[in-house]
Amino acid sequence: MPTVRIILVAALGASLFTADGGSIRLQPDPVERGTLRLHYVQKPIGYEKYEIVRDGDVLTLTSDFDFTDRGGRVQLAATLRTKADYTPLSFKATGKSYRFVNVDSDVRIDGSDAIVKADGTESRVPLSAPFYTVDGYAPFAAQMLLLRYWKQHGQPHLIRTVPGLPVNDVIVEPRGREAIKIGSTVVRLERYAIDGVVWGREAVWLDEHGALAAAITRAGGLSFEAVREDLEPALVGFVQRATLDRLADLEGITRRTRLLKSGTYAMTGATIVDGTGRPAMPDGVVIVRDGRIAEVGPRASVTIPADVPQVAVDGKTIIPGLWDMHTHVTQVEWAPVYLAAGVTTVRDMGNEFEFITALRDAIASKKALGPRIVAAGLIDGGGPNAFGVYYAATVDEAKAAVAKYHDAGFQQIKIYSLVTPPIVEAICAEAHRLGMTVTGHIPAGMTIEQAAAAGMDHIAHLGIRGEAGSDEVNKTIAFLKDHKTVIDPTQSWNELLGHAVGTPVAAFQPGILKVPAPLTRVFSNAGAAGIDAATARTRLERGLRIVKALHDAGVPIVAGTDEGVPGHSVHREIELYVEAGLTPMEALQAATIVSARAMKMDGELGTIERGKRADLVVLNANPLDKISNIRSVRWTISDGRVYDAKTLWQSVRFQP
Ligand SMILES: [Zn+2]
Repeated sequence: MPTVRIILVAALGASLFTADGGSIRLQPDPVERGTLRLHYVQKPIGYEKYEIVRDGDVLTLTSDFDFTDRGGRVQLAATLRTKADYTPLSFKATGKSYRFVNVDSDVRIDGSDAIVKADGTESRVPLSAPFYTVDGYAPFAAQMLLLRYWKQHGQPHLIRTVPGLPVNDVIVEPRGREAIKIGSTVVRLERYAIDGVVWGREAVWLDEHGALAAAITRAGGLSFEAVREDLEPALVGFVQRATLDRLADLEGITRRTRLLKSGTYAMTGATIVDGTGRPAMPDGVVIVRDGRIAEVGPRASVTIPADVPQVAVDGKTIIPGLWDMHTHVTQVEWAPVYLAAGVTTVRDMGNEFEFITALRDAIASKKALGPRIVAAGLIDGGGPNAFGVYYAATVDEAKAAVAKYHDAGFQQIKIYSLVTPPIVEAICAEAHRLGMTVTGHIPAGMTIEQAAAAGMDHIAHLGIRGEAGSDEVNKTIAFLKDHKTVIDPTQSWNELLGHAVGTPVAAFQPGILKVPAPLTRVFSNAGAAGIDAATARTRLERGLRIVKALHDAGVPIVAGTDEGVPGHSVHREIELYVEAGLTPMEALQAATIVSARAMKMDGELGTIERGKRADLVVLNANPLDKISNIRSVRWTISDGRVYDAKTLWQSVRFQP
């Protein structure tokens, strides 16, 4: 309609005119525009606005991606040029896609090569079709064109993408059609899973015109949702639909993963580090019967019944299953990763409610493999800078939020930064009345002592200022000891984000060399700018000295990662406790029995003792000899079922 065009041109003004070979010509009108509402853990936080113009055979997508998360602004500007059939010609993205994820990508297709400038280096990458240019989940409009490319090119199984060290394989799977009703309007949608743009699968919906309707992905380790403005009322429906798909994916992985053993069997000949603090037991035997430890002891004193199959594990070391006490399991791919790393229980510290309850239940019912999930439900204080969508600003809201989590089987509440002091007390009182415990950040305006005094049983992260050994810190530690406060100091997370940019992550975290390309890209840019390695180390060591002082005073330290490098960060957290001065046994206990005790589950878990759940790890080497041997996981036993670590890593595109 010509009238509309005229209005558009007038509205956009002179910037539409450019000099071209001496003559002024009008740039093409946008052929398509869209606005997506962005959400972090379902909270609306910003927008992506995109526009596509056509000039002859060339399409140019420009996107402005912009959100504010807990007061921090994140912006990304991207331009993607393609042929009419969506074959990329060039891609440029600069800014951030998440608080700590810097993006600086510039890709130009040159014949059958891509010239890739990313993170300060330039390389020529040979490419063969099908290929695409995409760098992480943002902008979503680029993923929309990726899907159109996939459709136009015969729906290939695999698309090579750059930048991606040097290429990254993306897999598109159609997952069905559906119609949603918004008011009286019915919108027909096609649903896809995209694997490999980020680590793990995203859910993406296109409408009948191929325009992006919604996408559910993961940013900074938490769920990130984009929904077209007019479809906003369907947000939770999209989350629920994606959850069903992802659980089906995990059930698929579970079916394809062969159990090495289950039921009743005896493992013989290993060194057993039972986690009680007793010295290692050489040539030991563990008998597992229907998910529980039926017997454990030196071979000389254990009688193995004749009908019990024996598995010789001479030369190996068996330890209790590990715990990660600070995670956000926002993707099903975490489940095999955790088991592969020897982690059999995790405490989830904030997630999409619909997703975490469904995943927890699928694992508990054994439909899906994975660590047992103990869930802490997140409550923040509300307002524009709040986190998540569960808030409490009044005592009644506090009671209602605690009740919602309690009724859904959460064992704990996680208080977030903006809860006010009287509401912290109200949440703790209500949680304790219902038999729950409370963890969380130290709320803004409170000290760690005030948070503990208000009833918080645990504190997430190491919120103690000052130097270990100072009067002030000694006083704080004595106070926490008196209040039986549990600390998860997340030192591996501090190290991952706080290392000097010039220090490669692999220097302290060899696990980074085994992760899928999208994770490598995320973490290759993490780190603190403007400090040298010595300064970074000094900061880390200050924290480690406090960890040691807390431990020496008898304050329980539990191993938590806040995710980090999936699976591998649990090992790093344990290594750092040894660097802090804990013995390897004490460090191991922080990730086993001390964690189990903190969650009041030590009657069932945390050590290798008769009657407890058979959650065990078979290591190739003994971590008491050298703590980094904790990385040598051969098999993980989850509720008596024996998994091969290598198979689990590979099931989600990690190298073993
Ligand atoms: Zn966290």
